[in-house]
Amino acid sequence: MTKTKEHNTTATAVYGSEEMVRPAPTMTIPETMTPPEVAYRMVKDETYAQTQPRLNLATFVTTYMDDYATRLMNEAIAVNYIDQTEYPRVAVMTSRCINIIANLWNSPEKGESKTGAVGIGSSEACMLGGVAAWLRWRERRLKAGKSVDKPNLVMSSGMQVVWEKFCQLWQIELRQVPLTSENRTLSPKEAIKMCDENTICVVPIAGVTWTGLNDDVEALDKELDKFNKETGYEIPIHVDAASGGFILPFVSPETKWDFRLKWVMSISTSGHKFGLVYPGLGWVVWRDRTLLPKEMSFSVNYLGAEVTQVGLNFSRPAAQILGQYYNFIRLGREGYRSIQQNSMEIARYCHERIGKMRCFENYSKEVVNPLFIWSLKEEYNKSAKWTLYDLQAALQQSGWMVPAYTLPKNIDDIVVMRIVVRQGMSRDMADMLLRDIENAVHEFEKLQYPTTSRLQYEKQEKQRGKVFTH
Ligand SMILES: *Cc1c(COP(=O)(O)O)cnc(C)c1O
Repeated sequence: MTKTKEHNTTATAVYGSEEMVRPAPTMTIPETMTPPEVAYRMVKDETYAQTQPRLNLATFVTTYMDDYATRLMNEAIAVNYIDQTEYPRVAVMTSRCINIIANLWNSPEKGESKTGAVGIGSSEACMLGGVAAWLRWRERRLKAGKSVDKPNLVMSSGMQVVWEKFCQLWQIELRQVPLTSENRTLSPKEAIKMCDENTICVVPIAGVTWTGLNDDVEALDKELDKFNKETGYEIPIHVDAASGGFILPFVSPETKWDFRLKWVMSISTSGHKFGLVYPGLGWVVWRDRTLLPKEMSFSVNYLGAEVTQVGLNFSRPAAQILGQYYNFIRLGREGYRSIQQNSMEIARYCHERIGKMRCFENYSKEVVNPLFIWSLKEEYNKSAKWTLYDLQAALQQSGWMVPAYTLPKNIDDIVVMRIVVRQGMSRDMADMLLRDIENAVHEFEKLQYPTTSRLQYEKQEKQRGKVFTH
């Protein structure tokens, strides 16, 4: 195979090259060079999307931006956010984005600039919100001469995995309020029962990843206010608004879930979800400067500039920040409102149509974010020969990515399917999807024998005492 160099010339066709009949490197760096066209094809071919990104209804993350936004971001592909000597305006633009987002969330903070930080996604933003709450709790406890070895955090079992990571990495006890068939969102009363002097914060979710529902932050705030008054604690709220942070301000401005509420001290969101920017971008905002512990700001002298940074990373791409600021200018409140309302309308349309199908049942009556889940009707499920996993596989054949999964523990006997409607999903596409669902179900109903996934599902559920009728 060392004859590569003699054999390959600039005239060699990509797929006629030696490299294309060799296994790809998996362990060691190749000894010799590879022509760029060939290297490009090898990487490109390996990363072929398994589904059309636009037909991927599983992801929350932006898969469409307009041509100018795409151009702007491509042109900034080499810009490092931290290099403020070379690109001083990027930091300015970041503060502007934080100001705009803080104002969307009704920040009461006075002055020229609001307190917040940029992250790679909500995960980093959630962690920063969590760390700040933990440090504030620590400081208060230490001042009072109390122990700081048993911090805990309270949220519903409908949390996203980042909170498990946060609690594990910072060694904080995660207290989960179970979602049940009665409490489909975080129950404020149950949450309060889990709070004590060691609770660093309660984390309601605006746009629960599993269900698409919103925790009732206003009701939680009221309960927490009572509890804090009775006990003298100062347990704050961090809202994980990964999706809701860019939905509620536009489609439901009257809903109080943000800094209008007394105990909401910080909020995080994903710029790359309904902020409508390509990945990865997240934001966190604090109610005011006093809530951001000084231990979290790091000042460094970097390439001649004094850079103060709050974040888990140092270098990071700046293109997403440009994309976010572009969106704010390009779309304005009006543009965001009409895009989010379209997504809501299409989600509601799919929700209604799916709810009318004989075999399905929606998990909730209303659609409060542009996503929803449904399951097989209980009666239908007793004698069905297929599962939603089969439907997922059938839809994949037409390019759709519609995930089926089980809900969190306590309600993990329910298999659901979820659709996230993002910018780029039209009514026509929704109709195609619904037709594909109907056709797939039609085929399943002709089955004589249960599918493998059905047999597996029944075997598992029978162990929990569920009865099937075939
Ligand atoms: C998506 C999501 C996250 C994590 O966000 P990333 O932007 O993917 O890091 C956290 N919380 C909730 C509720 C989410 O939906």
